[in-house]
Amino acid sequence: MTYSEQLEIIKSIPIKEGERRIITCPICYGSKKMSVSKRDGQLMWNCFRASCNAKGIYSGRRNLQSIKNYLSNTSAEKNAGRPLPEITTSVENHQPAIDYLKSVNSFYAYTNKLIKVRYVPSENRVLFIQGDGAVGRLLSVYGPKWVSYGMLECGVSVGTGNTVVLVEDIPSACSVSRLDDHVGLALLGTKISQNISATLCNYNYIYIVLDSDASNVAIQQARRHGANIHVRFTQKDLKLLTAIQIAKVLYA
Ligand SMILES: [Zn+2]
Repeated sequence: MTYSEQLEIIKSIPIKEGERRIITCPICYGSKKMSVSKRDGQLMWNCFRASCNAKGIYSGRRNLQSIKNYLSNTSAEKNAGRPLPEITTSVENHQPAIDYLKSVNSFYAYTNKLIKVRYVPSENRVLFIQGDGAVGRLLSVYGPKWVSYGMLECGVSVGTGNTVVLVEDIPSACSVSRLDDHVGLALLGTKISQNISATLCNYNYIYIVLDSDASNVAIQQARRHGANIHVRFTQKDLKLLTAIQIAKVLYA
């Protein structure tokens, strides 16, 4: 599908200035595969599916709020993280990357294309990619373990299904995605941002897994974002558990 054909479709999607939505891709019909956002009057869309070519940017007319943002320098670019690494390679080319994915139960999510994973040779990082953002895990011993790139305002969701499990990091989300009909959503921290909260309505069942020491803040947040969030406590690390053990944490 050409850019202008895509644009025609994307333009018909209701989206407000400053909003970002995860929707069913209107091009490949992949459920929750497309990210659409509007910032400073600029419409951006991107399908997470590797096989789908839906992607583009359209700079329409700036509206009043976006002009104000632009003038006061609170535009999206300012908040965007460091740019995504330009040169990446398949993790298949680098055995330690494969070993790492296997060690944190994320290899399944990778091989089943539930998340896009690449390797960054220049930084020796495994890169978990979603939309216009990514998070890189260092494979060497020294240096910052995790680095984020681009924009990841909606966290990182892995898998498909009606049940979402909010977890702290991406490998845990990948680990959760091994359960049938479950999506692991990495909060990339312990906060539930407004953008993440907005995506929760896509699911029928919402769980948040916290360690027992989690502050009351996280629980209060969970409650505030909807009474139907089920809170589970565990001191176990989800990325080190089998699928059956995760099911026990959620449903036992
Ligand atoms: Zn698509």
